[in-house]
Amino acid sequence: MSADNAIEYMMAGAMGAGICTVGILKGVEYVEKMCYDLSKRLAELGYHSIEEVNRAALPNFPKKEYVSKLDFHFEPYKEDGKKKCISCGKCVAACCYDARTLSFPEMHVDLDKCRFCGLCLDVCPTGALTGKRAPQTQEDLELERKSIEFYASFN
Ligand code: SF4
Ligand code: SF4
Repeated sequence: MSADNAIEYMMAGAMGAGICTVGILKGVEYVEKMCYDLSKRLAELGYHSIEEVNRAALPNFPKKEYVSKLDFHFEPYKEDGKKKCISCGKCVAACCYDARTLSFPEMHVDLDKCRFCGLCLDVCPTGALTGKRAPQTQEDLELERKSIEFYASFN
């Protein structure tokens, strides 16, 4: 973690930057150095405070970012009638957005909360919960193109 890293994180919306591990690895002196580097770098960039930096980059981001949607498929039972879903709850626990609920044999996903990260699919140990990329609308494709262009502009 450098001063530039910390400034980038805060420009993108972080309220602060955690440097606990680097303090353990490099000693507490590194924290002092980091504070010094941060003040110096802010001055070089023409900022007077952390508050000025916080979220400064957000106006440059696309107004509406493309999120590739998923079609979910939940299969509670196998063909022989035995349970495919073992009700382990991993898919529910993995969701940071509280979008998924299970009341066996019913699984529900709140699509207003879901961010289509796919984590619930990755943690399912039995393959009872699967998903594939949902069909794209023209608007989706246009947003995807703009997002790709935006991120490519940093290369
Ligand atoms: S795809 Fe991500 S956000 Fe959506 S239900 Fe699964 S874990 Fe939650
Ligand atoms: S992770 Fe898979 S097996 Fe576990 S509750 Fe969810 S769907 Fe069922």
